[in-house]
Amino acid sequence: MKALFYVLCVILVLAIGHAMTASDGVVKHDGGPAAMALPSATPSPMPSAREYIGTYTIYAYCPCRKCCGKSNGITASGVTATEGRTVAADLPFGTRIYIDGIGERIVEDRGVSGKKIDLFMDSHNRALEFGVRKAKVYIER
Ligand SMILES: [Zn+2]
Repeated sequence: MKALFYVLCVILVLAIGHAMTASDGVVKHDGGPAAMALPSATPSPMPSAREYIGTYTIYAYCPCRKCCGKSNGITASGVTATEGRTVAADLPFGTRIYIDGIGERIVEDRGVSGKKIDLFMDSHNRALEFGVRKAKVYIER
């Protein structure tokens, strides 16, 4: 009898465990619904708010004389060039763009035309390391 009772307990535990697993992620009785909805809603790498404007040639530059001919690091729009933010492009100042594989940048400088983007970097060596790449570019809305 004891053995049978044990087997019944195991079956019961397995059944409950299975039921919990099956309902997991569908309905949560504990915690707020907003907090639970977040993890599944986040992975959307390319929202429709981005407008694809083409494949651009990306050049890296730094504020040195070799790259710019001037060395004060002040962009054509008047702000100080900042790595991770500043790019030069044939787009209006303040345009927020997304460069595939590189990230979000803001157009703050001039000096290029057509499908080219100059990517500002603090270090001349890193600018050289980056070299020239092609990447898809989107405008952030
Ligand atoms: Zn340089």
